[in-house]
Order: sequence, then C-alpha cells, then structure tokens
Amino acid sequence: MDGKADLHLHTTFSDGALSPSELIERARLAGLTTISITDHDHTGALDEATSLAAREGIIVVPGVELSTIVGEADVHILGYFFNHRDARLQEYLEMFRTERLNRAERIVAKLNEMRLPLTMAAVLRRAGTGSVGRPHIATALVEEGLIGSYQEAFSKYIGFGRPAYEKKYMISPREAIALLAAAGGLSFLAHPSTFITEPVLRELIDAGIDGIEVVHPSHSPELVAHYRGIVSEYFLLASGGSDFHGGKRNDREAFGKYFISSEDVEMMRRRLR
Ligand code: AMP
Ligand code: ZN
Ligand code: FE
Ligand code: FE
Repeated sequence: MDGKADLHLHTTFSDGALSPSELIERARLAGLTTISITDHDHTGALDEATSLAAREGIIVVPGVELSTIVGEADVHILGYFFNHRDARLQEYLEMFRTERLNRAERIVAKLNEMRLPLTMAAVLRRAGTGSVGRPHIATALVEEGLIGSYQEAFSKYIGFGRPAYEKKYMISPREAIALLAAAGGLSFLAHPSTFITEPVLRELIDAGIDGIEVVHPSHSPELVAHYRGIVSEYFLLASGGSDFHGGKRNDREAFGKYFISSEDVEMMRRRLR
C-alpha cells in the first residue's frame, strides 16, 4: 500500500505554531498517512496526537528531536519508535528542558545589558509549557516591538557567534543514540546538509546511528540521491519530512510536500524486531 509519511513535524510543545490537533487536521488535508511529531526535547504531543490521528486513519510514530554536539557543530538527532514512557528518557528530556530555561534566562540577561528590555515572562508566554528555544525569544522581541524582524534577532543578537548567543546543554551523539536505543528506539541524523561535514557523518555512522534523514526541505534532489546512496552503502535506514514549524517560518507550502514512503517506515519497523 502506498502512503505518505512526514516524520519531522513540530508543535506548540516546542517551537511549532500549531497544536497537535491543528497539526493532525493539516495532515489529514495533505493526505499524509503516517506522521511523527519531533518536538525538541519533548514528547508531550504524542498521546493526544495518537488518539486524534487514529480517528482519521493516520498512524503516529513516536518521535523527538535531540540536540547533540560534535566539536563546534550542532548535530540534531531524530529518535523514532521509542517507548515514550521510558523513565530514563523522560528524565533526560526534563533535564534538557530545564537547561533550556536556564539558557533563555542567560540570553534575556544579555539582551537586557544591550538595552533590550525583554522579560522572561514575555518569552514564557510564547513558549507555554513546551521546550523554550531561541525562536520564542526572537518572536517575543518582535512582538514586544523591540526589534524589526524575526531574522534580525538572529543576525544581530542571538544567532551563533552574536553577542547574546548562549550555548545549549548538549550531549554527544553517542549518548543520544544510546539513550534512544535503551528506550527501544532508532536514531537518525537530522537534516545532514546543515553543517554536517563528511568526517562528522562517518563519526556518526561509527557511533551506530540507524539512519539518515534523506528528505528535508534543505535538500536538493541531487542531495536526496546522495544521502540515499550513503544509506544503501552502509545498510542504514532512510527517514524524511518537512520540519514544519508553522507560524513565522514561511514553511506552510512545505507541508505535505516532503515525505518518505510507507515502505521506508516498514523498513524501520523491521529493524526494530
Ligand atoms: P535552539 O534550539 O533554542 O538553539 O533554537 C534553534 C532554532 O533557532 C533552529 O531550529 C532555527 O529554527 C532557529 N535558528 C537558529 N539559528 C538561526 C538563524 N541564524 N536564523 C534563523 N533562525 C535560526
Ligand atoms: Zn524547531
Ligand atoms: Fe533540527
Ligand atoms: Fe526540526
């Protein structure tokens, strides 16, 4: 049976603009048959999304996006098919979220020193109960009338190497892979086109990554073919999706256009057994 699987979506449980129910409605309209919600350091959307999606005949694969570090590079790892009730996994996710909160406070303090009177309360109003990230800070800066645009927040203040930039607490890819494996899941290198050099890719394969996100809006058709090649060369799995966030990201047109087949998802299931 053919189907369209988008395994990279964000909701209000991290820096996405849509709630799980709004996202499921979109997925239905776009004709997706399998989805995964991969919020940063959060699996809070999963239970609600699974029961809502079931009514539409849509399968929800448990997912999460973790940030890891290799040298200076921020390497995102997507986890799939894990048991989201695994206590150790949840302890880690909670710790990552607490560290995100501490880091947001440090960023806000730096912005205040730069005469931008942003409050933590204004940031938390945008983040709600989800994982706090720089996108919430950027949105708050714009909506509080302190800067002109979302992009300006990153280019002048909070982007990598800018004066109000603060590092996030991050584990190594090996630790992330082990954490997800211990919870019964698979790990994938997310959007490898962004800052992932060939040596880093080899390192991840050595570390035991299960697969690569081959389909992503940042990948040209040539790049998709290139990553498919690496996947078959090393007997890895292929994942993919839109990395949809909604809101101010201008990615609405991406929804429903970036997907892998149900055969790709079936290969993942087989690897689990
Ligand atoms: P965080 O997880 O808090 O470090 O936030 C990372 C997110 O911020 C990324 O997923 C991007 O959406 C966004 N971001 C990071 N750097 C930039 C940039 N230079 N321009 C626009 N958005 C960025
Ligand atoms: Zn995000
Ligand atoms: Fe990412
Ligand atoms: Fe993402």
